[in-house]
Amino acid sequence: MNAFENAQEQLKRAAAVAPIDPTLLNSLTVPEREVTVSIPVVMDDGSTRFFEGYRVQYSSARGPYKGGIRYHPQADINEVRALALWMTLKCAVAGMPMGGGKGGVVVDPKKLSRGELERLSRGFVGRLHLILGPEIDVPAPDMNTTPEIMAWMNDEYAKITGDKRGATFTGKPLDKGGSEGRSLATGMGGFFVFEALKNKLGLPAQMSIIIQGMGNVGGNAAKILQSEGHRIVAISDSQGGIMDESGLDIPAVEAYKKAHGSLKGFSAEAGRPSAREISNAELLELSCDVLVPSALENQITKENAPRIKAKVVLELANGPTTPEADDILFARGIPVIPDILANAGGVIVSTFEWEQNLKGEHWAESAVFTKLRNILSKEAGGVWQRAQALKTDLRRAAFVVALERLVK
Ligand code: NAD
Repeated sequence: MNAFENAQEQLKRAAAVAPIDPTLLNSLTVPEREVTVSIPVVMDDGSTRFFEGYRVQYSSARGPYKGGIRYHPQADINEVRALALWMTLKCAVAGMPMGGGKGGVVVDPKKLSRGELERLSRGFVGRLHLILGPEIDVPAPDMNTTPEIMAWMNDEYAKITGDKRGATFTGKPLDKGGSEGRSLATGMGGFFVFEALKNKLGLPAQMSIIIQGMGNVGGNAAKILQSEGHRIVAISDSQGGIMDESGLDIPAVEAYKKAHGSLKGFSAEAGRPSAREISNAELLELSCDVLVPSALENQITKENAPRIKAKVVLELANGPTTPEADDILFARGIPVIPDILANAGGVIVSTFEWEQNLKGEHWAESAVFTKLRNILSKEAGGVWQRAQALKTDLRRAAFVVALERLVK
């Protein structure tokens, strides 16, 4: 099944445990609008290449469409549809006054120069500006899209439309209207959700943690969890992973990745005899208290779910667990804290950024994180209670909470 079929299957499963308005469910089988664009980019060698891009505007029931833009060589319309549907549910479960959308461009950004990347990002806005805007659709970063890319897009939007409020793109750098705390927000939000649920889940005070993906989300989650006294025993990027039972020094791992471009060779470096290299497939199946997928969809499937040894899965990536794998993990007593709750910190702080831009305000980081913690502690508690009442898993419960808010 592709990611969109998985997302639709999750909807059906949630609707089977609670009475959900059938008209709403029908409305969520297709997006309200989707646009495919071809973006011409003059390359450094003078040639022109055309990149395919998408924006899917799934639901505006609760407010302007909101959701990131992904740059990835395997980006495709079904993936973007799935991500846009999950955004719709995520904004609802987080109680944000936002709808759901998502964008993607089929590109390997590592193969573009900085200038080519800037022209591509500006070109994306050139093609789509008519359907973007603070009251219409507010994109944000996702995989391979950075604050700098958001700044280029924001600038291009202002040039084309004359709207200088800076509220059309979130995840911007601080000096370009970004919010304090935005770059840490998804990892921090995951931590707040985890803190709210860890006692209910029967987890120990000090935990062993495995993280797949070391980008904005996984890298920051690793730093936050380590600074809270937990042991990060394995972490990976797209090239593979490293593990060390005694705990990895995350700032050292990060410095190594920055210097060498990947984690390869880290464990062979002098002074780290207990570290070793592992594949991404192996990493998912190691014993630990908490497994934190923070990269791509479809990582925990019916094939590897029977071998997952984590006590709990905290989904910071979108869609890392397939519906069949959900059932296997539920039957094995391994709770999955679902993406639409666990990684909602990003969109919550993006919404704060949008609000600050519209009001011309700039909030302190402490204020941002206090608001974020309050929202996520409350919503995580609500989803937990709903799961208990419905005798179901946390994903179905989170979907039910979101769907009921969408009906309203
Ligand atoms: P990113 O581009 O900053 O980092 C992605 C990381 O995943 C990189 O370290 C990359 O090397 C790694 N990766 C890619 N393919 C992999 C593979 N096959 N196996 C292991 N690692 C792999 O992206 P990000 O913003 O950190 O997003 C990661 C996930 O979190 C995505 O699912 C995204 O949709 C989700 N998410 C992001 C945000 C956000 O605010 N950035 C918010 C909510 C959810």
